[in-house]
Amino acid sequence: MYEDFDPEWGASTLGIRASEPRTENREHSASVSLTSSYVFRNAAEAAAVFQGEQPGYIYSRFTNPTVEAFERRLAAMEGGQACVATASGMAAILTLCLATLNMGDHIVASRGLFGSTIGLFNNILARFGLSVSYVDLTDPAAWEAAIQDNTRLLFVETPSNPLCELADIAALAEVAHRHGAWLCVDNCFLTPALQRPLALGADFVIHSATKYLDGQGRCVGGAIVGDAERVGKDVFGFMRTAGPCMSPFNAWVFLKGLETLAVRMKAHCQNARALAEWLEEQPQVARVHYPGLHSHPQHVLAQRQQADFGAIVSFEVDGGREAAWKVIDSTRMISITANLGDTRTTITHPATTTHGRISAEARAAAGISEGLLRVAVGLEDLDDIRADLARGLV
Ligand SMILES: *Cc1c(COP(=O)(O)O)cnc(C)c1O
Repeated sequence: MYEDFDPEWGASTLGIRASEPRTENREHSASVSLTSSYVFRNAAEAAAVFQGEQPGYIYSRFTNPTVEAFERRLAAMEGGQACVATASGMAAILTLCLATLNMGDHIVASRGLFGSTIGLFNNILARFGLSVSYVDLTDPAAWEAAIQDNTRLLFVETPSNPLCELADIAALAEVAHRHGAWLCVDNCFLTPALQRPLALGADFVIHSATKYLDGQGRCVGGAIVGDAERVGKDVFGFMRTAGPCMSPFNAWVFLKGLETLAVRMKAHCQNARALAEWLEEQPQVARVHYPGLHSHPQHVLAQRQQADFGAIVSFEVDGGREAAWKVIDSTRMISITANLGDTRTTITHPATTTHGRISAEARAAAGISEGLLRVAVGLEDLDDIRADLARGLV
């Protein structure tokens, strides 16, 4: 569908060169098109554009040159035929469900999804007749066992938050398709620079552009990538009518973000891997969860499915909550926040923040202990990140 790039290009080249928007002024760096609507030369042109007989922009709820440039570039990077940008990552998930599912449909999803995704499924979509079953993401047989006659969508985040467990995307796609369902992968943690779910058989990719696609914690946005039929027509048609659209200014920020995505992800991963290896050697650290470590039970799957191991590192300290909080409160540089995908390293205590509202039993069943800490490794110098964590590991 989008043809102004070579799909064989590497992630850096695609992020910089795929879909370079250019007006008649031939600007080298993309300009931002801040306009809500567009004018026509005459009545006949307006009629032709409205009826789809002639290409042209109508209204920025569904067509804007800057948003379109971001959509095309992200689609190129994910290897998808079409992309629709949304106001946030949550808007992407909501839009996908409302555009493709019907009342009475069933979703199978991985346990331990992003908290708002669980809230959306359980508290909002449930009111409109959609139901969800949650399964262990590492076990394709568990996914298959949860499938019902009305299952239309399998939804997974891999690697998972905060324990960095992996789902085998190709295996899940096979299960989904055998049962006439689609597979959607939330690709926030790795981005297309490190993982391309569509090439592994997934039908849809969801992004919170708020995270690594921006990369500097400035704007909120999201996207859905997939094929020309479902995303190019159904999701686009939903967006045209329902309107949870991305702001052109945010699209411009994300477009700039995509230009450095691959090189940033490489640097994030390099820091994360070195930090994980260092943490594994610390006597106060009982366990480190990072797919790049040989100790990770799915290290081989990570090597097969991902180009690198990502920048989320979780670790358990001896001494439970008190010891974990001491690590957090001893930091001077690292940001105490649950956000991720930023140049700045962040640290959070899942048991009392992101996973604080679920019962202690459910938390324990999910493997989220009181001593668990999650670090989203940023781009500061490794020595400084290590020194900041070492202060509390005494
Ligand atoms: C942040 C996040 C979302 C939601 O994105 P927003 O842009 O905050 O709406 C969805 N999934 C994952 C994995 C996330 O980290």
